[in-house]
Amino acid sequence: MNAQPTSSPAAASSPASSAPSSAPSSAPPSAPPGAPPGALPDFLAPVFAQYPLPVVSAEGVWLRTRDGGRVLDLYGGHAVAALGYGHPLWTRALTEQARSLSFQSNAVPMEVRARAARRLIRFSGLDFNSVFFVNSGAEANENALKMAFTITRRTHVAAIEHSFHGRTAAAGAVTWGAASKWYGFPRTPFDVSFIARRDTAAIAQQVSDHTAAVIVEPVQGVGGAFDLGAPFLEALRARCEQVGALLIFDEVQCGMGRVGEPFAAKLYGVQPDMITSAKALGAGFPCAALLMSPRVSAALKLDALGTTFGGGPMACAVIEAVIEAIESEHLLEHVRSLSALIRSRCLVGPVVAHQGAGLLVGLRTSRPAKQIHAALLERGILAGTSADPGILRLLPPYVLEAAHVELLRDALLDIGA
Ligand code: PLP
Repeated sequence: MNAQPTSSPAAASSPASSAPSSAPSSAPPSAPPGAPPGALPDFLAPVFAQYPLPVVSAEGVWLRTRDGGRVLDLYGGHAVAALGYGHPLWTRALTEQARSLSFQSNAVPMEVRARAARRLIRFSGLDFNSVFFVNSGAEANENALKMAFTITRRTHVAAIEHSFHGRTAAAGAVTWGAASKWYGFPRTPFDVSFIARRDTAAIAQQVSDHTAAVIVEPVQGVGGAFDLGAPFLEALRARCEQVGALLIFDEVQCGMGRVGEPFAAKLYGVQPDMITSAKALGAGFPCAALLMSPRVSAALKLDALGTTFGGGPMACAVIEAVIEAIESEHLLEHVRSLSALIRSRCLVGPVVAHQGAGLLVGLRTSRPAKQIHAALLERGILAGTSADPGILRLLPPYVLEAAHVELLRDALLDIGA
């Protein structure tokens, strides 16, 4: 199976762009070039490279393809499928909530929303006292930055090289390399500077009394499962204290149990002023959250933040179920032990080193990671790549088992150095 992503010719040739604009046409849409006779264009925006992996269903850690094949999912849809697929608690929470009350806005108090917020704060084990529910990681970061500007009235944010924080105006502004690749807006909404990873000596220069916030992924995801480590995060915390800036941990990818603790802030023993969470928070149902410390919450007032869908009852029911599953099935311990197993058993074939934390694993490969990714997919294993061309990124469901790690090891041995 060729595992290199391909752009979608169907979408690229969408007749929507070539049809006369005056009146709707009654002619059937034309098929994309190269498609079988009678195939319809998909009309999807041609912005995603795609693997030739037509997934039709999934169960546990296995994806099922249209031709009946099985693929072991070690990537979890960009770190989302923390409970795998079809987890009974997740499925029951969603279906029961859909039956009883599918939606009401934040203008209406709902017990399920309050329960999800209480449970999330308790689960974090950190010093937070309010939660603002939103829909995506970028939106959570956008609101965190907004709170930092509101509180400090300053104009600068420091971020970390190789970071990824999302595609919106503010989140993209603090994403490394966005301006040259896809940012699109004429200018960033505030001043931004970047600190080299783990460079504690560079912090003082980049974080000053003009700085509203430092935003950091404690373990970078897109940047290559790169763990920034306690000394660097502690130094960021200390400098923020010194100059009165706020510290934001973007735990959209590394949070909610992914590193074997509720959040990476716990793993490293550093308390941020805000944490943003998404992905594993809903484990497949789109939702996100901004957790705020008492200092940040004190600045909240009516209408300061808002959303239509954020905190909807289906999202909140799912958040409760995800935390229930992580706690009742002791998944944090499991993540830690499976992480250790991957590190000890999978340093074979093309893998020469590893980095990251928990089940956000970066395997350094002797050849371009894309080649190893393709070779694994040919052997029925879906992994991920990253912005670092030498890192194969694993983000498996927390319900992975030792036998699955052995399948990965066997495939790596088969691929060879
Ligand atoms: N922050 C991090 C660390 C991420 O990895 C991502 C997405 O990959 C985002 C933010 C953006 O999240 P979303 O795509 O839900 O907006």
